[in-house]
Amino acid sequence: MSELTSKTIAQLRDGFRGGDFSAREIAGAFNAAVEAGRALNAWTVETPELALAAADVADAARGSDAVQPLSGIPLGIKDLFCTEGVASTTGSNILRGFKPPYESTVSGKLKAAGAGMLGKLNMDEFAMGSSNETSAYGPVISPWKRNDGGNVALTPGGSSGGSAAAVAAGMAPGVTGTDTGGSIRQPAAFVGISGIKPTYGRCSRWGIVAFASSLDQAGPMAKDVRDCAILLENMAGFDVKDATSLNLPVPQWESGLSSNLKGKRVGIPKEYRIDGVPEEINTLWDQGIAWLKDAGAEIVEISLPHTKYALPTYYIIAPAEASSNLARYDGVRYGLREMGVKSLDDMYAATRDTGFGAEVKRRIMIGTYVLSAGYYDAYFTKAQKVRTLIKRDFAQAFEACDLILTPTAPSAAFGLGEKISDPLAMYLNDVFAVPASLAGLPAMSVPGGLDAQGLPLGLHLIGRECDEQSVLNAGLAIEERAGFTARAEKWW
Ligand code: GLN
Repeated sequence: MSELTSKTIAQLRDGFRGGDFSAREIAGAFNAAVEAGRALNAWTVETPELALAAADVADAARGSDAVQPLSGIPLGIKDLFCTEGVASTTGSNILRGFKPPYESTVSGKLKAAGAGMLGKLNMDEFAMGSSNETSAYGPVISPWKRNDGGNVALTPGGSSGGSAAAVAAGMAPGVTGTDTGGSIRQPAAFVGISGIKPTYGRCSRWGIVAFASSLDQAGPMAKDVRDCAILLENMAGFDVKDATSLNLPVPQWESGLSSNLKGKRVGIPKEYRIDGVPEEINTLWDQGIAWLKDAGAEIVEISLPHTKYALPTYYIIAPAEASSNLARYDGVRYGLREMGVKSLDDMYAATRDTGFGAEVKRRIMIGTYVLSAGYYDAYFTKAQKVRTLIKRDFAQAFEACDLILTPTAPSAAFGLGEKISDPLAMYLNDVFAVPASLAGLPAMSVPGGLDAQGLPLGLHLIGRECDEQSVLNAGLAIEERAGFTARAEKWW
């Protein structure tokens, strides 16, 4: 990594303001890294000219009141944020060529805060996946390799796989991700970076391609906890265009950062000691407990008794909502249209058959099934009831603690192709991440260490509704103690 691309957002911001380097130099360094990193397939669209244009605005503003919080910072945007005039494909063939005439609220806020855009980031199709292999644009390859001398291509995780690889490979100092059931946290863990999914409703969903509307949340991924705080402050906020958006002021998370956890109680859920999880993951979890104790926290055992129902519940609710949301891709309004058929119905069917990949079709079928007359109560209503019980588990646990610590994922990054033909094994990746999504709680992954194969492992913090600050602070306490500085060795 060049000197500039290895810096954090805070360092770039401060260096730009202090005159150590120009915004144009920053944008140029990252544009070059994006070009040099094409072998990773992390980007669906590159927009070097937009990064440079924002840099010129930043350079002209330097030293004046016109400097914005993110002036001089170029970012990568996951490809399901609609970006005005720039292709937004959500990793799908059905939106190939779709250039939205509008900008999502979150990416618009980042732009208004002065950030430039390096390009759009590859992702699992419609954010359905945990390995980035369901993308119509091909899988993203992780910059990391196992230390066994082999050359197996690994997944950067998913669905925000391009986002994760871009930060880990020094192609962007920070990126947007979205998390419906783990898609910010699991990829962050797989590549040794930080990522936070805020409380449901913190970030507007307006202009983000919908997967499962009651779960989807945008959030940042970056090299460290401070950078996540900086980005989140500039992404969050009430939006009249999203009825589920929280009408609350945005806290100053960066200036609120403190790794002193005195007075905080951290809960360790006994149901998260799951059979079959490698010993290394449990050892790191114990290490995380020791780090938080060292930072002043009190550790308490808690119970989240409905944990074992979280994945099955998620895999009813998320596909149900997806099947409804994806009904709009009919070949009439957006993107692909298959012609050469006899009737309108045939056009719908042909468009959807060509446009959607196998995982998306699987979810549409599951979702349609669980919502159909005769099965609705048995599956969908039941799942909604269990979701309430899972939420209640957390509410009860938060009477005894302020934060919850767990591993982020049940394994380190796996090889491309290893799980794609076994959907259940793939779905298990999110076993620790999904409960917080169902409960709408803020949750973060921070790097904790490396496994025996030299691959990053993450620790996962869950907080009370709207208490992102405590999550970030505990993340910082871990970051300071873990001293995680490992980076993927450059081979691309
Ligand atoms: N891997 C999970 C899924 O495929 C979560 C995806 C996400 O959070 N977008 O549904």
